[in-house]
Amino acid sequence: MTPPQSTRFEGHAALVTGAGRGIGAEIARRLAAEGAQVLIAEQDPERAERVAGAIADLGGTALAHPCDVTDPDSVREAVRHAVTAFGGLDVLVNNAYRCSPGTFDELTDELWVRDLDTTLLGAVRCCREAMPHLVASGHGAVVNIGSVNGEQNFGGDAYSAAKAGLASLTRTLAGAYGRRGVRVNLIAPGTIRTPVWDDQTTDLDQVATHYPLGRVGTPADVAAAALFLASTDASWITGVTLPVDGGILMSN
Ligand code: NDP
Repeated sequence: MTPPQSTRFEGHAALVTGAGRGIGAEIARRLAAEGAQVLIAEQDPERAERVAGAIADLGGTALAHPCDVTDPDSVREAVRHAVTAFGGLDVLVNNAYRCSPGTFDELTDELWVRDLDTTLLGAVRCCREAMPHLVASGHGAVVNIGSVNGEQNFGGDAYSAAKAGLASLTRTLAGAYGRRGVRVNLIAPGTIRTPVWDDQTTDLDQVATHYPLGRVGTPADVAAAALFLASTDASWITGVTLPVDGGILMSN
């Protein structure tokens, strides 16, 4: 028997940043699979086209839009494209980020600025441009992709500070926009198996041994939570941080 197809996002429009691969791509695919029209806002044009093409091949609706969240004009253009093409905007997922490796004494001002500019200010720019349209939607939702690093000390100094800032931004905007019908929530993932780990020496099987649930996460784990928070299933939830972390925050 074919399982019933969920249509939670039928008639909804979404914009996902950094959606060219990894977690962002999976969120975009699942939003489209549940009926959303999705703008793939990704700085790498080829990746954006690939994800949009894969969604179209499965019968979904997605547009690729080269977008660098550090560039205010680029963000403005991406939001304009989504609103023009889809007739509005209901869901914004702030997923793009930058993480400079290095300890506190190794990180230069330039690296701090780069991480904060992408991870925190990128989300600020997207929220600023998207908010009028999310308000107009009547059921607008922002899902920020944070990290357990923003909640506790797991290293990644500039990245962690940016993610902690994103958690603060989440609460501030949730308070400011709740009465205007927009919910703003944050997911704090633990280690997720994505291409970002491919060129690193970290042994994810070893990392998994530290997790109470005995494995690292998948993009699907994060996407399931993102779709819940973006959907009207979560219509009385705003300003929260939802760990999707195999229990690592609880156990530290
Ligand atoms: P990926 O690197 O696989 O995907 C991120 C995408 O965003 C890349 O295509 C990247 O391009 C793009 N991007 C980077 N900068 C910008 C920018 N300025 N504008 C638009 N797009 C940009 O990352 P993940 O899927 O692993 O991570 C996604 C999110 O999940 C991030 O917010 C991350 O912090 C969070 N997270 C991930 C964890 C993990 O273990 N993977 C753990 C905890 C949180 P490019 O490759 O060119 O930089």
